[in-house]
Amino acid sequence: MNAVDILVKYFKRFAVIDYGEGSVAVGLVPYTPYTAFDFCVDAYYVASNTFYQKGRSMITELNGAGIRATRAPAETPLKTLALQAGLVFQGLNSLTYSGEFGSRFYIYAVSLPRTPAFSTYKESRAECLRCGACVKACPVQMTDDKSQMTDKGTGHKARGAGEGQIINNSNCEQYMSSENCVRAAMDSPANMSNAMSAAAGTRLWGCDVCQRVCPHNNEVVIEPPDPLARAARELIFTGDMSVLAGYIGANHARKKRLLNLAANAAGNTGDRAYLPPLQKLGQNPDYALNAQRAIEKIERGKPF
Ligand code: SF4
Ligand code: SF4
Repeated sequence: MNAVDILVKYFKRFAVIDYGEGSVAVGLVPYTPYTAFDFCVDAYYVASNTFYQKGRSMITELNGAGIRATRAPAETPLKTLALQAGLVFQGLNSLTYSGEFGSRFYIYAVSLPRTPAFSTYKESRAECLRCGACVKACPVQMTDDKSQMTDKGTGHKARGAGEGQIINNSNCEQYMSSENCVRAAMDSPANMSNAMSAAAGTRLWGCDVCQRVCPHNNEVVIEPPDPLARAARELIFTGDMSVLAGYIGANHARKKRLLNLAANAAGNTGDRAYLPPLQKLGQNPDYALNAQRAIEKIERGKPF
């Protein structure tokens, strides 16, 4: 069995391209988003955690066939490689899109010894329509307005970029900073700004507002698994990460991060039922900013 025979069993869409001294297989793992709910967790994180075990099995199988494969290192520029392989195109919101899956996929990459190039991609290439819907919908206007879009290459310009500066996939992450994007701000919520606190709304983990409005996304949504939704809603009362960790992985389900996010989401519900756990959290310096801000929002009856 060669590498492609094995990869095809795990990825719906993938490509093998030269990278460094060897090759890399870049695969798209599609998922279906969840309906929005209070304390919602983005299905992306559940999908990436679910594929973690499958990815390990794939690498074990590759190794068993005598192929020296490893998961690509964390610093591997996944979006850039997927673009280079022609699997995806760049959207204005800096996310990558596939003609088949929209932006609803997770990218997983495997380092391989030098392997002949291969791609499962057979369709005509779709592209960003530049309709500006993601720009209008973004709660913090992370993306630039249509008039400032550029036609140079596949780059685009986002708020914070200098005049004429093109964001490519190797440096766009710096613009997706905690000051510009809710998703990025959620990575370290202990010091979240008031603007990001409001823009996060009642979401617990993840922001996909710009993806929900993109015409490239098929807006079929599914209900989240009940244990996940319940654990997310009850987190602020229980402080129990175990169920969430089973869905999104222990790395994402870090107590300090998620309890801060739960406090913030609770404040944005405006529901007085959350005052007792918020008061308790507010006594702990690790959660004080978010808990006290949430209490103020609820007390004044104006969550946003
Ligand atoms: S993830 Fe949210 S905050 Fe970030 S660009 Fe999209 S809509 Fe804006
Ligand atoms: S919403 Fe429109 S502008 Fe934004 S990524 Fe999708 S097609 Fe491109």
